[in-house]
Amino acid sequence: MLGCGGTQPLPGRALAALWLQVGGSALLLDCGEGTQTAARRWGKSLYKLDAILLTHYHGDHILGLPGLLMTQAALGRAAPVTVAGPPGLRQMLAAVRALTGPLPFALRPIELEDCAGQFLVPAGQVTAFPCRHRVACCGYAYTLPRAGRFDPVRARAAGIPVACWRTLQSGQPVDGFTPDMVLGPPRRGLKVVYATDTAPCPAVRRAAAGADLLCMDATYADEADAPKAKLYGHSTCRQAGALAAAAGVRRLWLTHYSAAVEDPAAGLAAAAAAFPAAEAGADGKALTLRFDEDMP
Ligand SMILES: [Zn+2]
Ligand SMILES: [Zn+2]
Repeated sequence: MLGCGGTQPLPGRALAALWLQVGGSALLLDCGEGTQTAARRWGKSLYKLDAILLTHYHGDHILGLPGLLMTQAALGRAAPVTVAGPPGLRQMLAAVRALTGPLPFALRPIELEDCAGQFLVPAGQVTAFPCRHRVACCGYAYTLPRAGRFDPVRARAAGIPVACWRTLQSGQPVDGFTPDMVLGPPRRGLKVVYATDTAPCPAVRRAAAGADLLCMDATYADEADAPKAKLYGHSTCRQAGALAAAAGVRRLWLTHYSAAVEDPAAGLAAAAAAFPAAEAGADGKALTLRFDEDMP
């Protein structure tokens, strides 16, 4: 988590942004002012950043784009960068380009009609879903699928040369042999869901179902602010906890705290009352997710 703030960055609290790294590829969710500084602070290489997923075009989620792209250029990035977002993406990118001037790499826009759709990025598969905000706003579910277990007994019985095993194990056909000949049923993969800015709603709950990690709008710590949250299309900490519980996620990180929330942990108790595994998001908060059977 590069930042956990909403609306305005504060000294010591960057705007909401999430960095997801899978092998040598990285994915950035939202890019408010100061995101590139936050990435550097937490040791993330912008050179490896292949895709930027924008939830919506409120300034606290996009104003860091021109500077971040120019730094990628300065680092010698030549490979294309995918930029996904709700309708209006091309227009927004035209404004960004007017500020950056020509870039040495291509920007590949994925404009998500109705804030929904599936697409591939180098790090894996992404599914967009509509959030409930004042403007069109996408949430994103990143999934890393996992192939079934390799069965050497079946491979030998089918007369498949050992030299082909590794390729089949990775899910690719080779020399007339196909993965289904040697792999068991697909195993549980990994899923990370990012939903901000949003009020709680069925679309977010469905998209978050069973996630290993949900990062959720928790703009207000005090439940007395619930009417304000509803009016502006945000959630309270308690609402984020309730949604996490209903969606059956494994972990919840609260994020996008209002600048008026002095202590980001203040709403944690309210969230944890509904979902005991809730954690207060914080700048630099990090986690390595592993497939179930790889857990120590
Ligand atoms: Zn926001
Ligand atoms: Zn917003």
